[in-house]
Formats: sequence, structure tokens, C-alpha cells
Amino acid sequence: MYFRDEYSKRGFFYNAHPAVVALAAGIFACLLTFLASYLMVADLRRQLAEDMLDFSLVLAGDIQAADRLERGDMRGRPLLDFDRRILHWPDGGIEACLEGIAAWQTAARPDLTRPEAEVLARPICGGDRMSTLRGDLLETTDILIAGTGADGARQVTSLRIMRGELVPWTVLVTRPGQLAIAVWVSLTAGAFGYVVRRRQYRAYMTAREKASMDALSGVLRREEFEEKLEAAVAKIKAAGGAACLLAIDLDHFKSVNDRFGHAAGDEVIRRCGQLIGGALRAGDIIGRVGGEEFMVLLPNLPKYVAAEVADRLRKRMVSQAFTFGSETVFVSTSIGVASLMAEDTVTGLSQRADRRLYMAKRRGRNCVVWEDEGDADY
Ligand code: GH3
Ligand code: MG
Ligand code: MG
Repeated sequence: MYFRDEYSKRGFFYNAHPAVVALAAGIFACLLTFLASYLMVADLRRQLAEDMLDFSLVLAGDIQAADRLERGDMRGRPLLDFDRRILHWPDGGIEACLEGIAAWQTAARPDLTRPEAEVLARPICGGDRMSTLRGDLLETTDILIAGTGADGARQVTSLRIMRGELVPWTVLVTRPGQLAIAVWVSLTAGAFGYVVRRRQYRAYMTAREKASMDALSGVLRREEFEEKLEAAVAKIKAAGGAACLLAIDLDHFKSVNDRFGHAAGDEVIRRCGQLIGGALRAGDIIGRVGGEEFMVLLPNLPKYVAAEVADRLRKRMVSQAFTFGSETVFVSTSIGVASLMAEDTVTGLSQRADRRLYMAKRRGRNCVVWEDEGDADY
């Protein structure tokens, strides 16, 4: 079920259809992901170009570049890593060259087998400037380069290119741009989730509130009131607190209906509900328990204070003027007050408040009764 948020005029994401919100969120996340990937690929391309430059410097015989590479201070976290070893050219003929280089290589790089070392050494010993051997899964590439050192002596450089120490997650966390986008995407996704969930929650709460409220008077319906009364009384009794219950009934209400019609009667009930609701405290529980009867639970009040509250309500109600047609009428209320005792049940408490309400009727209406002989609920 989808409906608009009745309590908020706060724009698109509060009132848009969930499918529209989902679509907007999807497109937004897609654009950001694309942007992050684009930035990352551009960055990695730049880094690879730098690594290749280092590599070509080493190949071209730039000794200082090679030294810097070896010390690892060219740049941090490369995509490609290098390892360079130098051997003075072995004395003797081709066989001695082959034997010398292959033995040196297998000692320097223990993962090379003797046949592999010979494959690498053979072209060099035959007069080539360079030979290459690619390792498994492109983890390493070994290169031998024949050359001349700074001292003018012939030498062989063994250069190994390895996968750099750059691990995938550091690609993200060491780049502020991509990291900012990742954080942004996460926060936005969270915000979307929050907005959608909040709207659902508010819709649920509104529906629940509506279901528990009496449409005419705006206070709790009888069933809801009884449920809440039961729970509140149990809680108050467990805590050893005080509470009072008011039973309120409009006087001669039938005559309002008879003289001015049912709609006029409804108007009186509505105003009475508003008046009671507006006059009480946040923790008080108010219900419409019959046609023109209300009940109010006042927690944490001793009976004499509750009687004063009841009298204030009575005065307010009777001073409300209702104009129906050309006539102005005043409607009074009678109120019974009972206070919660240690052994009370909700039924006992309600019956005592009701009995006092009818005593108030018998005493001539428009009054509050809060004690009667034999019921010592002080
Ligand atoms: P009393 O002072 O003894 O309470 O007199 P009363 O006329 O108020 O007593 P009674 O309980 O006999 O009358 C209540 C009337 O309230 C009867 C019924 O027609 C009317 N009533 C009940 N529910 C509604 C309602 O929702 N709207 C209207 N307009 N009238 C209602
Ligand atoms: Mg009545
Ligand atoms: Mg009545």
C-alpha cells in the first residue's frame, strides 16, 4: 500500500512514490559508482605509466633510477616492483658463461630451476643484449641484460619485474577522491533507507493512532481506553503510585438531540472531547466510553487534587456556549471521582467512579462527587 505523508509537506522524498525513490536512488548510485570507477582507472593508468617509465629508465641503463628503485623510494605502493642484481661477466668461453650465469641466477633467485636459468642465460652468452623469461600467471618476469658497468667492465644485470605490493583495497583507501565517493554513496544509501523507513513508520503510526481514536471526539475509543487503563493501572499498582479515575457524563443530553437534532448533539460531544483533551496532562488517559460518557485516568494525583481537576473541567464545560439556530444553550456535566486503592481491580475502580457519577446526577447534576459513605478510598 502506498500513501502520501499527511503530516509532512517536506518535499520529494517524503511524498514521492517508493518506486520513484528507488529509481532515483538507483540512478544516483549508478552515476557515483561510474564516477568512482572512472577516477580509479584514470589513477591506475597514471601510476602504471610512471612504473613503466621507471622500468624503461632501468632498461636504458639509468643506474641512479635503478638504485632508487631498489631502495624503494621512487614512489610508495607501486603496481610493478623491480629487483635488480648485477654479476661481473664470467671469464671463459660460452660454456663457462652459461655455467657461471646459470649458477649465479639459481643462487640469487631460488625459485628459478636450472633449465630455466639456462634458457635465460643462453642468448646473452650467445651475444644478444637481452633475454626474457616469463613466470607463471604473470607473477614475475625475469630479464637478463648484457652491458657495461660504470667501471667499464662487462656485466650482466638480472632484472625481475614482479607484481607490486599495491593491494586492491589500498587503491580505494589511499585515494581521497574515491574514498569520499564511497563514503558519500554509503551515507546517501543510508539516508534513502532512513527516509523510506521513516515514512513507513509514520504512516503506520498514523494509521494506528487513527484506528485507536474516536473520530467524533478525538479521544480514545472504548476498547483502546480499556486496554490502556488496564495496563496503566497495573503499572501504577506495581510502583505503589497514586491514580484517580473520572467518570464524566453530559447532563440531559437527550434533550439536546431532541430539540436541535443529532448533528447538534454530535457537535456537543466533539467540543466536550476537545475540552477534556485540551485540559489534561500528557500522561492522562482519556476515552469516550459511551454515547456522551467519557472516562479519564489521572496518574500520580491524590483524590482531592483529582476532584479539583474534575471541577475545573465541569466549570469549563458548562461555560461553553453552543448556538444552534437562534438559540444558545449550555450543557453541563456530572462527574464521579474514585481513587485507586491497593486491592483495587480496574472493574472495582470503574464501578466506584460510576456510582459517584450517578450520585452526582441524583444530587441535581452539574456537580462532582468524590466520596461516599462506606467507600474509604482516600
Ligand atoms: P442524564 O443527565 O441523566 O445523563 O440524561 P441524558 O439525557 O444525558 O441521559 P441518557 O443516557 O438517557 O441519554 C444519552 C443520549 O445520548 C441518548 C442517545 O440518543 C444520545 N447519544 C448517544 N450517542 C450519541 C452520539 O454519538 N451522538 C448523539 N448526537 N447522541 C448520542
Ligand atoms: Mg447523560
Ligand atoms: Mg449517559
